[in-house]
Amino acid sequence: MVPSLDEKLELIYQEVLHRNPGEAEFHQAVREVLETLGPVLGKYPEFADRKIIQRICEPERQIIFRVPWQDDKGEVHINRAFRVEFNSALGPYKGGMRFHPSVYLGIIKFLGFEQIFKNALTGMPIGGGKGGSDFDPKGKSSDEIMRFCQSLMTELYRHLGEYTDVPAGDIGVGQREIGYMFGQYKRITNKYESGVLTGKGLAWGGSRARTEATGYGTVYFAQEMLKTRGESLDGKTCVVSGSGNVAIYAIEKIMQLGGKVIACSDSNGVILDEEGLDLELVKRIKEVDRRRISTYAQSRKHAVYRDGGNIWAIPCQVALPCATQNELNGKDARNLVKQGCIAVSEGANMPTTPEGIRIFLDAGIAYGPGKAANAAGVATSALEMQQNASRDSWTFQYTEHRLHQIMVDIHKTCHETAEEFGAPGNYVIGANIAGFLKVARAMVAMGLI
Ligand code: NDP
Repeated sequence: MVPSLDEKLELIYQEVLHRNPGEAEFHQAVREVLETLGPVLGKYPEFADRKIIQRICEPERQIIFRVPWQDDKGEVHINRAFRVEFNSALGPYKGGMRFHPSVYLGIIKFLGFEQIFKNALTGMPIGGGKGGSDFDPKGKSSDEIMRFCQSLMTELYRHLGEYTDVPAGDIGVGQREIGYMFGQYKRITNKYESGVLTGKGLAWGGSRARTEATGYGTVYFAQEMLKTRGESLDGKTCVVSGSGNVAIYAIEKIMQLGGKVIACSDSNGVILDEEGLDLELVKRIKEVDRRRISTYAQSRKHAVYRDGGNIWAIPCQVALPCATQNELNGKDARNLVKQGCIAVSEGANMPTTPEGIRIFLDAGIAYGPGKAANAAGVATSALEMQQNASRDSWTFQYTEHRLHQIMVDIHKTCHETAEEFGAPGNYVIGANIAGFLKVARAMVAMGLI
């Protein structure tokens, strides 16, 4: 059963539905937060008086633009791109760019909305934003990707700046794409403004451990949740969905902490390797050769590739959804719980459907929502900005130490906030309320903006 909202929050939600028709993912993300804010309004009536929630649900600025580009044969293509500058109460808008054919305004708004609370939880001075395009990078040559990125930045540059809006990567956008976008920004503005984009290469202003950050952090969050239950990742059988940036480094950190990862996936199918995944092989396939994960099974005899398979049907003790939104539904959640899963930590944004979340919470397993569990990526982006501002470059060890500490602190904040609001162990309540309070207090302090 879908939990009801209290009267004031229901009215706000209805208004969001009315003002943003057809944006299902955005509605879902807003509702999930509103469902947890009832006790906050009871305790802090000034937030209702100042209409803080209504203001948080309305982006400060939304930019939609045309991106024309030419393929290698000279044919012209037109894509649509977005940048939603959601909330700058805590700092410049910060959040990645996603290139995927499914992208439309509703997806960028859900991601931007989540980003506000996530960024607040990191304790770093960054606001929330997100962007992307319906461009499909699959099967495109590097030259085509470059021309697309240059065309996109030719419009986007005017909205960016290290004190204004600082994009990074997301699905379909990694260091190569950041490089092409940064190059074009630098050329147009005639400024080497390193802090305008994060996820850069090490030789040109990037941070060590940024590539690893989101995956590592998601595992650190799982480890902290398990600790509160006297458990650890050591010896646990784990399943990680996806095989992109977040998934690869989640697998790496699980292995470093003694866990065994037996499966990963892409949007076509699932690899099951009961002996434990060969991470170097996964990296070679995805990061070097840019091939499909199905080719893994050609190199490892005992591994099985299930075309169109469901990764959540594989029994495991710890599950890390690291692919995309709504990839894990109620049926999957029931299945995972039934087969002995004790912890779920979300590397992806909103990967579990509302029904799935309720099943995890009702079963009392350790469930870490994306806006807390995957915050190390953006936190390390903020550390990249810090290094850029001071013209410095830290060691891997120091940067990883910082991101680990940030994840330990986020876990503590969520854990303590959940207890304070009468829901011990509920990280959804903890993350939403702690993130909201930080942003709301800043918005009240700054007047009606
Ligand atoms: P990548 O593009 O590097 O990888 C995405 C992976 O997910 C690919 O393996 C892709 O497979 C797979 N995937 C996409 N859609 C589906 C689907 N419908 N079913 C199964 N697999 C799918 O992106 P990232 O690793 O950077 O991002 C993954 C998730 O993590 C996203 O939700 C993103 O928003 C979130 N995130 C990323 C951060 C970062 O720092 N990169 C920070 C915080 C969150 P295929 O190749 O077939 O498309």
